[in-house]
Order: sequence, then C-alpha cells, then structure tokens
Amino acid sequence: MRRQFVTQREYYAFRLQYRNGEGHTIFQAGKALQHFCIDAYSSIELNRVAFLRYHQPQLRAEVYQGLQDVMAWGDLDGDKMGHIVLPGTYIGSPRYMQQLYHDAMAVVEFFGNPDLFITFTYKPMVVSRVFHIKLSTLIDDIKKNYYFGKTIATEIPDPQQDPVGYEAVCKFILHGPCGEANSNAPCMRDKKKRANGKCSKQFPKDFNSATTFDKFGNVVYRRSNTGVEVQKGSMTLDNRHVVPYNRNLLVRMQAHINVEVCHKGKLIKYLLKYVTKGPDRSLVIVENANASQNNPEM
Ligand SMILES: [Zn+2]
Repeated sequence: MRRQFVTQREYYAFRLQYRNGEGHTIFQAGKALQHFCIDAYSSIELNRVAFLRYHQPQLRAEVYQGLQDVMAWGDLDGDKMGHIVLPGTYIGSPRYMQQLYHDAMAVVEFFGNPDLFITFTYKPMVVSRVFHIKLSTLIDDIKKNYYFGKTIATEIPDPQQDPVGYEAVCKFILHGPCGEANSNAPCMRDKKKRANGKCSKQFPKDFNSATTFDKFGNVVYRRSNTGVEVQKGSMTLDNRHVVPYNRNLLVRMQAHINVEVCHKGKLIKYLLKYVTKGPDRSLVIVENANASQNNPEM
C-alpha cells in the first residue's frame, strides 16, 4: 500500500539531493548548509523523542519482554519505575549501546579475535556519499585484495625513492604540530598528561631501531632515525611523529587511515569502547544554596 505521508527525515533527505532543473542555492551556502542540516536533524530528533515520550505504554509492553531489559539501567530499581524508557531503536540510548555490545561480542565469538584496528578519518568537506564509496573500497581492499601482509609502517618514505608515498604520508598521517610549537592543538588540552614532554597521544614517540613489545605487551613500532624530515608550520616532524599506516592504502585513499596490529585481549576492549562509549554527556545538579545551610547532612 502506498503511504500518503513521508517522515520528517525522508523529507529532509529528499530536499538535500542535488537535482538538475532545481535551485542549488542551499548547496552553495557553505557553513549555512551545515547549520541547516544540524537544525533539521535537531528538529527530527526532538520529534522522535516526543513520540517516545507519549507512547510509553505501548513501548514498555514490548520492551519488558526482552532479555536486554534486565541489563538496561535502572529497571531493577523500584524508585525509577516512573522514568521514560528509550527503546533500542533510538540511536545512542542505553539499550541501543547494549545491543551493539552484544552484537560485537557475538562477532568475536564467531570469528575470533580481530587482526587489525583501522581508523579511517576524513575532512568534513567530503560528501558522505564519497566517504561511503571510499569505505566500501577499503573493505574490498582488505577482504579481496589483501592489502595487509607485514606492511604497517611508522617511518616517512624516502622522498627520492618513493615520492608518492612521501607526499601522502606528509599530507595525511603525521601527528602535529603540537607541543610547544602549537599549544592550541587538541592533544595539548589536558595539562596533567604533558609532564613527560609528550602530548595526550604520546607524541613525539622515541626513535626505535626495531619493532618490539613494551612491558605491558603493547607493540612499539620501529622508528629509525633516517634523517627524513618534514616542515609543518614552525615545527620539524620526523619518524617520531608518524601515526602507524599502510603505504598503499594511504596513497589509494588519500585520507588519514591509522592501522594498528590488533594483538588479542586488551585491544578488543579498546575496539568495543568505540562501539559502546556513546555520545558525550554531562551531569548537572541544580541545588538550592540555602537548603544545605539549614540541613548540614544534605
Ligand atoms: Zn600531539
């Protein structure tokens, strides 16, 4: 049966397509376009939350039959019976995160431990469709074209022997400038972590003639002092500033792709952290200043 209405999300998704014969003003609007997208999504989300709020009786009946419910926050606590339940279909809700966690665990149970840990980042100006194409290509490269042998590198290629690799590494995978040369860098925010002269991502790393393990079992990649240097702003970067990468992948994708050896145990937790950590949130308490004076126990 044909629907008579579209959802709010579908409406905006329709509006955000580039079509010949239609005005393209919004797509040329730069930051205003991003603002529009955020406003539109906030509005969609507000309506979704409102729907959930006013359909709690229907949602609960379904939700309380599920096993995940036992795990979800607060449900065993009698005091909280009046709270609003966000179902697992709501992105970012505790139940959503629980489901992701269980899915991830099921994947590990079936396939065993992961082998590689790859982070693929792109600048925001790249259209999501382009990113999606690159991501699919990346997955194909890994599964069908076997890009990975012993090919994780943490050194800058020689500009004479491999100019293409050198250029890609300089452009996409060096960490910095940070430290004293750029104290505004995001990795410099937490001052406590800077006691050893390194930023929060532990750069610059030390030079290292061979790949080894440290006392915690973490991989310490080879970073020999080859003398190859790159000038970024006022800072000279060398092999101590290279984020682990795969040369062919970097050249092919022209994006920041961090590749790490995923050696059992601990890294699974780290991998799952990305799946389950959820959105940033803050806890705010509003108190009556006079109340605590009258009653010191409060
Ligand atoms: Zn840094």
